Amino acid sequence: MQKGAIRVQTENIFPIIKKFLYSDHEIFIRELVSNAVDATQKLKTLASVGEFKGELGTPEITVTLDKEKKTLTISDMGVGMTAEEVDKYINQVAFSGAEEFLNKYKGQTDGANIIGHFGLGFYSSFMVSSKVEIFTKSHKPDTTAVRWECDGSPEYTLEETSKESRGTDIVLHINEESEEFLDEHRIQTILEKFCKFLPVPVKYADKQLNNTHPAWTKKPADLTTEDYQNFYKELYPYAEAPLFWIHLNVDYPFNLTGILYFPKIGKSFEVQKDKISLYSNQVFVTDEVKDIVPEFLMLLHGVIDSPDIPLNVSRSYLQGDPNVKKISSYITKKVADKLDEIFRNDRKSFEEKWESIGLFAKYGMMTDDKFSEKANKFLLLEDITEPGKFYTLEEYKTEATALQTNKDNKLVVLYATNAVQQDSYIQAAKNKGYKIVKLDNIVDAAFINNMEPRWDNMMFTRVDADIADNLINVDEKSESVLTTDQETKLKELFGHIPQQHVKVELKGLSVDAQPVIVTRPEFMRRMKDMAAVGGAGMSWYANMPDEINMTVNANHPIYQQILDESDNDKQQKQVRNLADLALLSQNLLTGADLTAFVNRSVELMSAEKKN
Ligand code: ADP
Ligand code: MG
Repeated sequence: MQKGAIRVQTENIFPIIKKFLYSDHEIFIRELVSNAVDATQKLKTLASVGEFKGELGTPEITVTLDKEKKTLTISDMGVGMTAEEVDKYINQVAFSGAEEFLNKYKGQTDGANIIGHFGLGFYSSFMVSSKVEIFTKSHKPDTTAVRWECDGSPEYTLEETSKESRGTDIVLHINEESEEFLDEHRIQTILEKFCKFLPVPVKYADKQLNNTHPAWTKKPADLTTEDYQNFYKELYPYAEAPLFWIHLNVDYPFNLTGILYFPKIGKSFEVQKDKISLYSNQVFVTDEVKDIVPEFLMLLHGVIDSPDIPLNVSRSYLQGDPNVKKISSYITKKVADKLDEIFRNDRKSFEEKWESIGLFAKYGMMTDDKFSEKANKFLLLEDITEPGKFYTLEEYKTEATALQTNKDNKLVVLYATNAVQQDSYIQAAKNKGYKIVKLDNIVDAAFINNMEPRWDNMMFTRVDADIADNLINVDEKSESVLTTDQETKLKELFGHIPQQHVKVELKGLSVDAQPVIVTRPEFMRRMKDMAAVGGAGMSWYANMPDEINMTVNANHPIYQQILDESDNDKQQKQVRNLADLALLSQNLLTGADLTAFVNRSVELMSAEKKN
C-alpha cells in the first residue's frame, strides 16, 4: 500500500485561480479593500490589547488611479508586513492570515470584525493585472520595508525597499484586457457598491466614499426614529418614507445584524423585490437575497449583515447551508413578532397601514406555516360598508356567527371585491344583517383559496355568488304571488333567452328586490378570476364558459304588468330587457348582445310613445 500527499503544481493552479475563482472581475477591488480594512482593524485590536504601542493616528484607505502608468493602487495604514510575513501570507496561496489572526485573538477583536477567510482574495488581483507590486512596512518597531513583485507566474521577487510610513500599498499594473478598470467612473461605481459602509474611511479622488458607522451597526437604544428614516434615505434616496422597520440583532447561534424596512405598497403591487442588500462585516456581498430571505419578505427593503454567510459562495451552496436556513426562519419570526407588537400596542396605526401590511401578511400566511400561526391573530378584515372598521378573525366570528353559520356548521365569510360594482348585492346582504368584508387586493383571491382548506370551520363567499337569501344556506321555499299558470307563462318567456349557460329560476323574493338577479357561483367565478391573472395550471378554467344563475323575482310588480300585456312579442322583449339589465349590472353583457339590448330598449321606448 502506498500513502502520500497530493501535490499541487503551482504552474497549473495559478490560471485556475485567475480564471475560475471569481466570475465577476470587479470583485478584486472588494478583496483588496477588504484586506486593507482587515489590516487596519488588526492594528486597532493590537493597540487595544497593548501589543502595538506606536501612534495609531486615524488610519484610512486610499484608492488611486494613475491612467498614464496604468496602475491602480490601494493603500492602507494598517499592520503592514515584514519580509517573513509576506513570505508566509502572500507566497503561500490559500493560507489565510485573517483566519490565523482571528484564532489568536479570539474574543479580543472587540467588534473589529475581520473580513478575510480563505486566503485567496489577494490573488484575485491577477485577474486584471499583468504585474502586482506590494510595498509594505510593518507596524513592528525596527523593521525594514519590503517590495514584492509578481507577474502572475509562480515566480516572485522580494527585496528591501524604502517606505517611510506604516502600512501597505498594493500596486496593480492593469493588463490590456482589463483597461475598463482604468476608467475613473467605473472605479468610483465599484467602490460605491462594495465600500459604502466599510468601517474604515475609504478615499478616492480626495473624497471619502463611505459611512463607517451605518445605522445597523449601532444599538437600537442609541437610534431615534429620525436616524432610521435618515438611513433609509441613505439607502434609497428617491423612495417614499417607510412605514416602519425592524432592527435585527442576533449573536447566537449565528451572527446577524441589519435593518429591514416595510415600504408603502399600493394596490398595484409596484414594489421592487430586490431591495434587500446582503453585507458581510459591512462589505457588500449581493442584493440577490433569494435564498436567505423567505420569498414573501423580499418585498421588504434594507440591509442584512452576517459574517456567517461566506463571501464567495455559489447559489447552490447557500441553499444547503444550515446557517442560511436558520437565518431565514429567524427573520420570519422577527417580522411576525414586530407586526404582532404594533398590532397590540397601536392598533389604530396598524389598521391605517393595513393596506400595505396586509399584502405581506397574506403572502406570508400562504407560504409559511409558522408565520401563519402568528398572523392569524393580527390578520384584519375591513368592513366594506363601513370603511375604517376592521375585524380580526376572532372578532368577525363573534359578530357573524349567529347569522352566518351554515348548515355544515361553517362560518360563511361574505366578501366583496368592488364596493361600487357589487353595491346592490352588498346592500341586499347588509339588509339581512350580514357582515361583508373587503377583499380586493391582488393577493386576496389566492389567499382565500389557500386559507379555506386550512381553516376547516370557515368558508368564503362573494356577495354576488347567489341571491342574498341563499348566501348562507339555500332557501328552498318560494312563495310567489303568481298563479301556477302565470308562473308557467313567465318561465316560458324567460325560456326564450338565448344566453348560453344561463340557469333561470323563479323565486318569490321580497317586492323590493330586483326583478332579475344575476349571480355567478363562487367556485367557478373564483377559478376564472385566478385563470385571468395567470394562475399556474388554471388555463383550463379560462376557457370554460361562465356559469350564470338568473333568479327571477316573481313577486316583483313588474311581472303583473308584463303578464297583462297582450302582445306576445312585446312581452318577450320586455323580459329580455330585464334579463339584460341584470347581466349588465354584473358586467356580463358585451358585444352583439349589448348592441341588441340598446336597440331593443330604443324600440320599446318609442313603442311606448305611440301608445
Ligand atoms: P484572507 O484575507 O482571506 O486571509 P487574502 O488572500 O486576501 O486572504 O490575503 C492573505 C493574507 O495576506 C491576509 O490574511 C493578510 O495576512 C495578508 N495581507 C493581504 N493584504 C494585506 C494588507 N493590505 N496589509 C497587511 N496584510 C495583508
Ligand atoms: Mg482577504
